[in-house]
Formats: sequence, structure tokens, C-alpha cells
Amino acid sequence: MIEIKNLRKSFGELEVLKGVDLTVQQGEVISIIGASGSGKSTLLYCINGLEDIQSGQILVDGVDVHSKSTDMNKLRQKIGMVFQQYNAFPHLTTLENVALAPKIVLGKSKPESEEIAKAQLEHVGLGDKFDVYPSRMSGGQQQRLAIARALAMEPRYMLFDEVTSALDPELVGEVLDTMRLLSDAGMTMLVVTHEIGFARDVSDRVAYVHEGLIEEIGPPSQVIANPKSAHAKRFLSNVT
Ligand code: ADP
Ligand code: MG
Repeated sequence: MIEIKNLRKSFGELEVLKGVDLTVQQGEVISIIGASGSGKSTLLYCINGLEDIQSGQILVDGVDVHSKSTDMNKLRQKIGMVFQQYNAFPHLTTLENVALAPKIVLGKSKPESEEIAKAQLEHVGLGDKFDVYPSRMSGGQQQRLAIARALAMEPRYMLFDEVTSALDPELVGEVLDTMRLLSDAGMTMLVVTHEIGFARDVSDRVAYVHEGLIEEIGPPSQVIANPKSAHAKRFLSNVT
């Protein structure tokens, strides 16, 4: 479980998160929607400790992310993250890309890491691309590779930050399908997305972020189909 309590985060004078409360239950899929600059990415970065915070608390399975005594390497193994930009190592094949962290971080043997990598690549539909270099693949394939790479660490949580935003429209579906499968398999996911259809169909809850606060949260049937917040209404009418 991820518990976020009264989280405040500033960059210098600019307060970006202004008291965010959110509890993510095991197995839950929460889509995070909202305008550009509202603090969605910052929220994800705070959860896996890529950003420090000013006040409040984030607990991941009861462990305080921002406590000095927390073992960040151990914590980050639990939390996979996929970004908007593809970030595969260009000089490594897909198999080598996915096998790297199990080998280096988890200390698995080469054959073991490769077994893990093959299984994860098959999961994301790249079972025929083991020896291919990332630059030879489409953006959609590269994002599925990024998902496989995160999954190879066997995380309990997956954070997605606009993973389809840089893709050509015809490649968006295959990545969303992969995320849908992951959700069906019971993965706990926080998904920052502009894909309102995905948010509606796949999420247990949708959180609408406005200027550093979760202004509305609830099932898609409420937040997307029938939002109470005037800001959410306006945002949704602009993106759909
Ligand atoms: P979103 O993901 O919703 O578009 P972000 O979390 O990226 O929003 O950004 C929220 C606000 O914080 C924006 O005003 C952005 O310019 C600012 N911001 C984000 N990262 C930094 C940073 N590293 N330094 C200074 N300001 C930042
Ligand atoms: Mg962002």
C-alpha cells in the first residue's frame, strides 16, 4: 500500500504540491489526470524518492520514503517507473537491456537474468526481439521494452508518467494494451495519462489534479463521466 499524507513540495519559491493526500491499495489502478504543470510528474517523483519533499509523508508498505534511515535501493526495487521518453541503453540489445538490472542490482547470475528478461519481453509482446537494438524498434516497441525493463525487478508498484505522449497515434494502442494486461494481472499502478479512454476503462479510481492538489477523486463513472469540480469539467471537455 502507498500512503501519501499532506504532501507538500516546492521548487524554491514555487509550491507545486500543496497538501496531497492519497492512499493506493494493493492491486488498485489509479489514473492521474490534470493540466500540464499541475504537479502530476512531481507527485510520482516524490513517491519513489527522486524528489525530496518539504512536509508531509509518503509511506510505501509502511516505509517512509523520505526518512534518512530508509534504504532507497531496496525501496526503489519495489517501484518500477516508466517515463515519457524512451530510455533504453542504445548499445545493448533488448535482452541485455532487460537483463541488466536483475544482474547488477539483484545479483542474479547471467543465465538467470536472461531467463527473467526473456519472460518479461514475452509478456510485453517482444518475444521475437531479443537480439534487436532499441534504435531499430518503433516508439511503441521501445515503450514496451521500458515496461519489461521495469518489470524485470519484480516491483510491487508501477508508476507511469505519460508513457504514450511521445508516440505516433497509431502506436499508442499497443502500449496501452500492455498496461491493461498488467492491470489485469493485478499490478498496483499509478498512471499519469492524457488517455481519457484508458483512464475510464482501466482505472479503479481517477484522480484529477489541479494546481498541486487532488481536486477530485473517485471511480471513472464519477470523475470522468460526471465530475463535480468545475475545473475538472473544463479540463475534460478540452481533452476529450
Ligand atoms: P505536470 O507533470 O502535471 O505537467 P510537473 O510536476 O512536471 O507538472 O510540474 C509542476 C510545476 O513544477 C511546473 O510549474 C513546473 O514548471 C515545476 N517544476 C517541475 N520540476 C521542476 C524542477 N526540477 N525545478 C523547478 N521547477 C520545476
Ligand atoms: Mg508531467
